[in-house]
Amino acid sequence: MKRETRLIHAGRPKGDKGLVNAPVDRASTVLAPTTAELYNPTPPRRHYARGGLSPNAELREALCGLYGADHCALASSGLAAVILAIRSAIEGPGEVLVSDTVYAPVRRFCNEELPRLGVSVTYYDPRIGADIEKLITRETRAILLESPGSLTFEVQDLPAICKVAEAHGVRTAIDDTWTAGLLMNPLDLGVDFAAQSLTKYVGGHSDFLAGAVVARGSMADELKTREGLYGQHMSPDDGFLALRGLRTLSMRLERSGASGLEIAKRLEALPKIARVLHPGLESHPDHTLFKRDFSGAAGCFSFVLDGINARDGEAMIEQLKLFGIGFSWGGYESLVMPCDRQLKRTAVPWKGEGALIRLSIGLEDVEDLWSDLERLLA
Ligand SMILES: *Cc1c(COP(=O)(O)O)cnc(C)c1O
Repeated sequence: MKRETRLIHAGRPKGDKGLVNAPVDRASTVLAPTTAELYNPTPPRRHYARGGLSPNAELREALCGLYGADHCALASSGLAAVILAIRSAIEGPGEVLVSDTVYAPVRRFCNEELPRLGVSVTYYDPRIGADIEKLITRETRAILLESPGSLTFEVQDLPAICKVAEAHGVRTAIDDTWTAGLLMNPLDLGVDFAAQSLTKYVGGHSDFLAGAVVARGSMADELKTREGLYGQHMSPDDGFLALRGLRTLSMRLERSGASGLEIAKRLEALPKIARVLHPGLESHPDHTLFKRDFSGAAGCFSFVLDGINARDGEAMIEQLKLFGIGFSWGGYESLVMPCDRQLKRTAVPWKGEGALIRLSIGLEDVEDLWSDLERLLA
């Protein structure tokens, strides 16, 4: 079955009530009829909510179906999910190689928390590809990827990096939020742990925070262990919304992806735009990799204003009417965000011709969105 079909049918309730959707079980505790049943239930079932009652159990199943994974851990936020993936990938003290484009709060975790666990951090150029081998030492424990980078949209050569990692016994983890697990499957390309913020495209309606991590085989066992140790949990109400979001994910992604690419192409033709950072454009330096590994684009990308500094860029975008100024992306509503204050790179410092602006294209009519942008840029 195509993944779009699996998204509709995976994680449907199996009870004899005939419900189309899994109900929301609001309970910390499921009572057992006897003490023996509490510890050894037959058939196996959960007696405490952290392991996932309905609909979280169904959400896990649906996400496993999407990725072809053996385990899915749910977390209270996307950030918590990425951190759980990192902790699952790092077995002990040593060094982790981290893409210079990682999400800023993940970078903060790497800088401030990993050293306390005896793990040092080396940032690398996201376009490094197989040359990552040169950075691997006896101390290297894991490689953290994010593709494309969520501010500057570099695409990483995942198969090349994962091949090197595997040869050296180094585990890999990715922040896969941009593809929502649907536009590319990192597990098929060799990544051990794939994490995403369900807050973005899967949720799709900007009304909750949640995250998930998936893995296969022995990595799935490792993930399950770390999940238990760290006590991550997702509220069943949020689990319900995430599962509901999954059912319409493919059409929402298709719509915002198509509108995003259209707007990216039109922006590229304007004189005040120095560059449009969208991997679906032929002008993008990683377009070939993108075409090889992705089945389509999400609706989030950036552009660089030509000769307009960050402050003036911020003042400009305040004039937009249909784009809300805000963090996040992947919702039904379009958003705009000035990025310069978030660029914290060290391996390949960012050099822009002017202000870096990120758009998340929502589900509005594309011509209405374009009129708003065109009026501003004129
Ligand atoms: C938003 C985001 C996160 C964090 O997700 P939350 O659900 O907000 O915690 C992680 N990675 C990327 C790339 C994101 O855009």
